[in-house]
Amino acid sequence: MGHIVVVGGGLAAARVCEQLRAKGHEGELTVLCAESCPPYDRPPLTKGALNEERDTTLRTDFSLLRTDLRLGVPATSLAPDRDVVHTDGGEIPFDALIIATGASPIRLPGPGPQFTVRTAGDAARLRSRLVPGAHVVLAGASWISAEVATSALKAGCRVTCVEPGPAPLALALGEEVGSRIAEWWSEVDLRLGTGVREVTGNGVALSNGTQVAADVVVTGVGVRPETGWLAGSGVETDPGVVVDEHLRTSRERVYAIGDVAARWSPRWNTRLRVEHWDDARSAPETVAGVILGSGGPLPVHDPVPYFWSDQFGRKIQYVGHHGPADTVEIRDAGAPKWSAAWHTPDGRLTAHLSITQPKLMIQARQQIETAITAG
Ligand SMILES: Cc1cc2nc3c(=O)[nH]c(=O)nc-3n(C[C@H](O)[C@H](O)[C@H](O)COP(=O)(O)OP(=O)(O)OC[C@H]3O[C@@H](n4cnc5c(N)ncnc54)[C@H](O)[C@@H]3O)c2cc1C
Repeated sequence: MGHIVVVGGGLAAARVCEQLRAKGHEGELTVLCAESCPPYDRPPLTKGALNEERDTTLRTDFSLLRTDLRLGVPATSLAPDRDVVHTDGGEIPFDALIIATGASPIRLPGPGPQFTVRTAGDAARLRSRLVPGAHVVLAGASWISAEVATSALKAGCRVTCVEPGPAPLALALGEEVGSRIAEWWSEVDLRLGTGVREVTGNGVALSNGTQVAADVVVTGVGVRPETGWLAGSGVETDPGVVVDEHLRTSRERVYAIGDVAARWSPRWNTRLRVEHWDDARSAPETVAGVILGSGGPLPVHDPVPYFWSDQFGRKIQYVGHHGPADTVEIRDAGAPKWSAAWHTPDGRLTAHLSITQPKLMIQARQQIETAITAG
């Protein structure tokens, strides 16, 4: 293999460089990274990094990996008819291209200032505003908002959260589980069943007509995959970059991994966009094996999805993937511990949520791996 170009500068990009060299890639390796700092870990940004400065730079040694890491150099487009990536500094030819451009937070309408947390700069700016007595309004009772609320309360702020659904995380976990989670929000003025219509000069205007004044507005309503630069390139997007179980896009010699990828999962017989750290960590090994292929069967990336969140003093771990037909059962294990298990109508475990019980998560993951297999 000749020149491999990686576009992106997060966990997936860093890990794929390590995997390519570990699997014997001897050719050129270039990383185009839009950010001006080397790749860093994002999960701490809404955890400890909102209360104190943290350096979360990944340990990847790009010079040891003989990698040309170009910081502050975004890919601006991909030529439709030639294997070249365009940047403001000129075009870069490739023999294989790995797309790892992640995702960007969705912003709400309105002229007022709103914070989102995706980058280290975002976290630093928000940290400087989390001062005792400040009123923080969170738009959306999401995973990110729960972590921001935890940090804001710790910093002595007053916190209000506005959520159109019936409970925090109801969209992801359903109303029954979300209602149990709502108990943790007791120190937050949680307003359910109404959304933010727009961010105004001094707070937010809600869809029910109410105005809420705020010193800081933080929007946590989801992300969009970073695919704008691929317009017209022939790479299919929907809205993430569509890849098969070998992480191959609709275009020859072009692959996608991490938050930007919408991967086909034979295990779940559906397309998944898994916006979690564990997927960005593990997909690089598969894609490196596919690109450098030794002639045997192509490696498949189809792990059971996993993520965690630290909120309101609890560690939450979710493993699996549940669908609308699955039923959920909540099991109490003596406060504050409980868990939730989702099963298919024929009784197979598809997903498991545990609160501060890591052993349960490991058991559930093994059970799901056995219960849900391809074909
Ligand atoms: C605040 C926060 C907290 C999180 N907490 C958790 C958690 O507790 N548990 C969990 O499982 N997951 C968590 N996640 C998710 C996890 O961090 C992501 O799944 C992971 O970062 C995805 O890695 P990635 O490399 O695919 O994308 P990213 O980390 O988003 O990296 C993409 C990189 O590509 C760059 N880029 C974009 N466009 C271009 C372009 N055109 N050219 C060049 N470069 C470009 C971006 O600037 C960025 O540097 C969290 C995420 C955030 C933001």
